[in-house]
Amino acid sequence: MLEKMIEEVTKIKLAHEKEDRLIWLYDSKGEFSVKRMPNLLMEKGVEDLSFVFNKIWKMKVPARVRSFLWMLALGRFPTIEFLERRGIQFQQMRKKCPWCDKELERFDHLFFKCKFVKGFWRRIFNW
Ligand SMILES: [Zn+2]
Repeated sequence: MLEKMIEEVTKIKLAHEKEDRLIWLYDSKGEFSVKRMPNLLMEKGVEDLSFVFNKIWKMKVPARVRSFLWMLALGRFPTIEFLERRGIQFQQMRKKCPWCDKELERFDHLFFKCKFVKGFWRRIFNW
């Protein structure tokens, strides 16, 4: 289900000539509600996400850490690869990872596979 959800979201192309505005389809005013998310996900049959969602949102960490982990679980970080799939164009030289400048700036590379990021995580976990 998560893969299908990601696939559907990545099909959306941004229109450069229109004003960008975020709306949430499940609210009459278009305003997002974190409280409604677990019920909505379960109503829509996204059970695997509700488990992750509950785990993340019950963690006793600052809200910004929970938000970060939620975005990580969804794979929704605005990397170059993610933005290009949504129609934003970049110059060739700006597509690379800002840490190693060797690989395309992709979610999995940026957080887990980059040799500089691996070194960072190693230091954090050995601290
Ligand atoms: Zn890198």
